[in-house]
Amino acid sequence: MSYIHKTICELVASSPAQAEFYQAVEEVLESLEPLLESEPRYRASGIIERLVEPERQIMFRVPWVHDQGQVKVNKGYRVEFNSALGPYKGGLRFHPSVNAGIIKFLGFEQIFKNALTGLPIGGGKGGANFNPKGRSDQEIMRFCQSFMNELYRHIGPSTDVPAGDIGVGAREIGYLFGQYKRLTGRYEGVLTGKGLLWGGSLVRREATGYGCVYFAESMLQSNAESLSGKTCLVSGAGNVATYTIEKLYQLGAKPVTCSDSTGTIYDSHGIDLDTLKHIKETLRVSLQEYLKEFPNAEFTPVDAYPEDGHAVWRYKADMAFPCATQNELTEADARALIENGCMCVTEGANMPSTSEAVELFIAEKILYGPGKAANAGGVATSQLEMSQNASMQQWPFEKVETRLREIMAGIYTRCSKTAKAFDQPNNLVLGANISGFRDVADAMLEQGVV
Ligand code: NDP
Repeated sequence: MSYIHKTICELVASSPAQAEFYQAVEEVLESLEPLLESEPRYRASGIIERLVEPERQIMFRVPWVHDQGQVKVNKGYRVEFNSALGPYKGGLRFHPSVNAGIIKFLGFEQIFKNALTGLPIGGGKGGANFNPKGRSDQEIMRFCQSFMNELYRHIGPSTDVPAGDIGVGAREIGYLFGQYKRLTGRYEGVLTGKGLLWGGSLVRREATGYGCVYFAESMLQSNAESLSGKTCLVSGAGNVATYTIEKLYQLGAKPVTCSDSTGTIYDSHGIDLDTLKHIKETLRVSLQEYLKEFPNAEFTPVDAYPEDGHAVWRYKADMAFPCATQNELTEADARALIENGCMCVTEGANMPSTSEAVELFIAEKILYGPGKAANAGGVATSQLEMSQNASMQQWPFEKVETRLREIMAGIYTRCSKTAKAFDQPNNLVLGANISGFRDVADAMLEQGVV
């Protein structure tokens, strides 16, 4: 039995029913194979066995009260995965699909992503199986307060610093921060993605989407291409998708799609950004609303999607940016993209492409930027927010954006150089995994068996 197969079998036995987590581990271990062969010290020191087991997992009850007075109970999670490089850092996700396996897959990915930024941050992730859809502001506030009533004892500016993710934006971070402050009496940088009036960083809101487009720009530049004039497919309609679309316009490309949990919008004239923001950031309703302003756009509801994939990837375009959620781009979607002439796929979401889709992109030599590298701009800017908090400063927009652009170009260079060094120049998955792993593993070796 191969080392990877043995590790996955042991994980299945010790942590049952965590499919997304096994998927993430398998992808990383497969690409580490050449390194583990050339550097036996990693295996000899049990680095892999230690890496796949979180340092700490916290599960807790989150009771809260509906506007109508009913008591509801959700499950809360925080997985503190690895602190070899710094305090645990990673977002909180509020979505009904959240379970221990999803949080572990996200936390595991976060270790390597954070390492790739070159900044001193470890990996963690958390959330709850709470559905914010249709909940009033008061209900969201009560939920966030109850969530923090347990979480506060596990986090701190030099131990664990959560941020947002799906379902957790500026509003939720505000309620979480307020409750932390009330419980501890401390005003400190314990969360990132904060409001600008109370410790937030300029560009944090835009960072993941902007960073994702910068990463695509680096990939294109290395291949003597540019974003100018490129037609782009974007999935999602949340934080990452919105600011991916914004930066695509700024760099001369034309994004023609976006999607949400109700369906996909295609607008051949380009997605109208103000309308998108109004629908999703202000009204918080279905994308179908877009048709009221732009009746000539197309809306495909989820129940009309192809059986083997998603409508958003079936349009003709030069580039694709999956920015919604995990496994939202299947093998059939990947095939459709390639047949339609798509030459570059850059992931804003975490693990949005299935393993089969990724294999196809690499085999077909499509420019492919894996999420853990391409969406690292969010966490990198979170770390810049932590630096600003620690020095009691607020940097101007241009300074943060310039740092973000440099960091994304640096991540691309690291991944690309590593891929070349292992004779797989097209394989940024291998480049990202080996490059991130090496820093974490070397730090773990130096810190002993802990
Ligand atoms: P948001 O909650 O702001 O937006 C998520 C978007 O994806 C929404 O449009 C939502 O639809 C859609 N969506 C979510 N789940 C599903 C699903 N199961 N099926 C179909 N559509 C779905 O989240 P973010 O934009 O912050 O996050 C998007 C992705 O980016 C995630 O994978 C996240 O982990 C990753 N990411 C986010 C970072 C950040 O800084 N925010 C940093 C790095 C990665 P609807 O509007 O209907 O709910």
